[in-house]
Amino acid sequence: MSAILRYYLWNIGCQMNQADARHVAEELDSRGYRATPTPERADLLILNTCVVRQSAEDRVLGRLSSLRPLKAGPRQRALAVMGCFVGDIEALQRDYPYVDAFFRPSDLDGLAAWLDRWEVEHLWGLAGGEVSTAPQVAELVPVSYGCDHRCTYCIVALRRGAQHSRPIDEVVADVQALVARGAREVTLLGQNVDAYGLDLADGTDLAAVLRAVHAIEGLARIRFLTSHPREMTQALIDTVAALPRVCPSWELAVQSGDDEVLRRMGRGYTVERFRDLVQRIRAATPDGSINTDIIVGFPGESEAQFENTLRLVRETRFDLVHIAAYSPRPGTVAATWPDDVSPDVKERRRLKLEMLQEQIAGEINAQLLGQTIEVLVDGQQRGRWRGRTRTNKLVFFEADEDWLGRMALVRLEWTGPWSMRGQVVGAVPSMP
Ligand code: SF4
Repeated sequence: MSAILRYYLWNIGCQMNQADARHVAEELDSRGYRATPTPERADLLILNTCVVRQSAEDRVLGRLSSLRPLKAGPRQRALAVMGCFVGDIEALQRDYPYVDAFFRPSDLDGLAAWLDRWEVEHLWGLAGGEVSTAPQVAELVPVSYGCDHRCTYCIVALRRGAQHSRPIDEVVADVQALVARGAREVTLLGQNVDAYGLDLADGTDLAAVLRAVHAIEGLARIRFLTSHPREMTQALIDTVAALPRVCPSWELAVQSGDDEVLRRMGRGYTVERFRDLVQRIRAATPDGSINTDIIVGFPGESEAQFENTLRLVRETRFDLVHIAAYSPRPGTVAATWPDDVSPDVKERRRLKLEMLQEQIAGEINAQLLGQTIEVLVDGQQRGRWRGRTRTNKLVFFEADEDWLGRMALVRLEWTGPWSMRGQVVGAVPSMP
């Protein structure tokens, strides 16, 4: 072996991007590359990008310009960019001539084919090193790519294209392989995961995938995200309630609590429909949790419309709210409308919602104080074991024993809005 190839992989964005980045790393590891956190030491630089908000796009642009000098240096190295930043490839090639290749989101086949060529053309004579993909307790498994909706603010659907569901056998085989490598939990991913299968001829739906994955021996927990209020069915709710290894932690994006704003967002449901869904979810899975996504400062959002969102948050009492201040994304319908909520007002609304949610999450979690709860331990952080409850809440505890990948019973001694702490009192004896 004359050299070991090193790669630097930079990733930002949603869980789908995390899953893609993981697959890229696996592909490179299996080819014998070694990961490095230092771009200067890398032969191959890969950026897996996100442009869902202006701040994410700014980070991508910053990273691209910081890596540019490396391409001008004496060392022969390649720079590839993939993810949602990659829209019009010809324009990007013109604007960023120092980038060797662009790949659309999740185009892992395209990346692999390009790597084949790049290795032959530029690296003849270099051999690989050891495979170094570290097994993870909780893994992400895409079940569908793209989205058939056209929410007026969303760049993701434009960049990722029409929905394409993976055949159920392929998903099951993926999960089996991950479990064989030590995974205890999988999260099934789709931009609109509830719409899984609508593009398949055989009538498979997400409930069928959950049942199939649930039958895999050795798997302790299954999650899925992100749900869309338009596609969620009673059959799916009933399936989640009936399958003990499927965690009742719902990720149901509402985006706004005002019907007019929802209409202009192109979401295809009303607040009433959302309320009804929440009611049915809670009836079926009373011990579950519901998280949501909300955009504040959407074009034209009045103070009264924002108040409607606050009202919905107050009455629904979500466990977690991912809050984003609206930023126009070029190419979307909403970007053609005046971005007429000032940055100050957006920030004020974001903070107000955040404070409300912090109070609600604190109150919800405080009810768990003193309870003993099941935690799947997925790592360590600052000397403490870290894991998640079935409802996807973060729990820390201290113990000398090795708990990685195991299910601990933790008695909660402190709760806060974002995490909880406790003492381990035992292990869950067998799979649920
Ligand atoms: S459902 Fe809407 S927000 Fe979600 S990916 Fe599809 S278009 Fe974008």
